[in-house]
Amino acid sequence: MFRKSERLWGKAPLMSDYDAVIIGGGLHGLATAYYLARNHGMKNIAVIEKRHIGFGGAGRNTAIVRANQRTKENLSLYKEGLELWPKLTAELDYNLMFYNCGNLNLAHSEAALSAMRMQVASARFFGIESHIADPKECKELVPALNISEDITYPIFGGMYHPPGGIVRHDAVVWGLAKGAAKLGVHIHQGTEVLGINVEKGKITSVETDQGTISTPRVLNAAGGYSASLSYKMLGIHLPVSVLTIQAMVTQPLKPLLDHVVSSGAYHCYANQTLKGEIATGAHMDPWPNYTTQTTAHYIKHQAEALSEFLPCLRGVRFMRIWGGLADMTPDMAPIMDGNDPIEGYYTDCGWGYFGFKSAAVTGKYMAQFMADGECPDMLRPFTLRRFEQHRLMGEMAGTVVYSPWN
Ligand SMILES: Cc1cc2nc3c(=O)[nH]c(=O)nc-3n(C[C@H](O)[C@H](O)[C@H](O)COP(=O)(O)OP(=O)(O)OC[C@H]3O[C@@H](n4cnc5c(N)ncnc54)[C@H](O)[C@@H]3O)c2cc1C
Repeated sequence: MFRKSERLWGKAPLMSDYDAVIIGGGLHGLATAYYLARNHGMKNIAVIEKRHIGFGGAGRNTAIVRANQRTKENLSLYKEGLELWPKLTAELDYNLMFYNCGNLNLAHSEAALSAMRMQVASARFFGIESHIADPKECKELVPALNISEDITYPIFGGMYHPPGGIVRHDAVVWGLAKGAAKLGVHIHQGTEVLGINVEKGKITSVETDQGTISTPRVLNAAGGYSASLSYKMLGIHLPVSVLTIQAMVTQPLKPLLDHVVSSGAYHCYANQTLKGEIATGAHMDPWPNYTTQTTAHYIKHQAEALSEFLPCLRGVRFMRIWGGLADMTPDMAPIMDGNDPIEGYYTDCGWGYFGFKSAAVTGKYMAQFMADGECPDMLRPFTLRRFEQHRLMGEMAGTVVYSPWN
């Protein structure tokens, strides 16, 4: 029996006034609330979540973390993000289950290997450990790997990134909620934001299905819903397409996969969870939609791909499949912005495949932005204006499976 005093976060009454309202009890909303309270002493904060915390991508992702992105703006952000997980575990006094197992990204052609060499060079320039592995080293790292010529896409080598790994996604949600609530943040689940009010170019209040909240600051951290929310409530168009990502797990198996393995050619990535399941995902559905529906096509695709490069999985059963929404920008880099064109309105969205690994570090910088009103240097390149100024980032090269959308 769970006593009230043992709950990780309590239920607070919805106040009519908050210093900041955060829309979305996902990873980014909770992380920003936590850092606003922790680093900036702002306690009167509401996180408004229409369902339950972790309902969005936060509770549906495959929990992979890494820092070997492609562009300089993203590399430094993700490097700091990766380094934060162990610190956050200690700080929150909550086991986020960071498993630093390393990520192996397979190359199936000389062209893919050359691209990886570029990626490794960029990562190293920023002090991020990463190197090219030949097929023999790939096999040593993942003994279950099929490095024979006898598969559709033979393995030419790979890019190994030892500092990456897996963090337990729901532990991150619960740990951040615990930490934020302990610092006084109110988490309102089952409460939907229906409108945002602006007067003379400034945020004044937020309409929810439980009442109106006066506030000078609003963060849109609504994940897959952020673009529609922004357009419907404020008329601000975000260049975000919403696509479905599906993932699935097999029956639990004895330990056989000690790293995250991904393959761009097979459009498949996999890792073994602490429960022994093989968690695996693919690229996104090739059309924009707002559904979390799953399709038989992906089960077949994953089964075919895995049984080629990890043949010991042939005949293993999938136990569960699920889908989540991915908010994709044209350059596969996020939008982090604020005070433009509305004072007090902040946006943190467009995370696509990358919103889990980046959550803690982004929360830290978005909190700084919201508290000071000045954009931190780390976030400046991610402005929405980059799309009208033709300064796109080309972070697609940093993905490990490719979106058919781009
Ligand atoms: C299958 C899958 C696998 C993935 N794997 C990885 C991975 O391995 N690594 C990685 O880095 N990323 C991964 N991602 C991406 C990652 O999960 C997302 O980028 C991340 O969850 C985005 O976090 P967020 O806080 O922006 O949004 P979310 O976690 O989606 O949270 C948004 C919240 O806003 C709420 N909301 C929406 N509208 C309203 C409203 N009007 N009022 C109140 N609340 C509202 C929603 O209910 C939701 O809870 C994956 C995603 C999927 C779907």
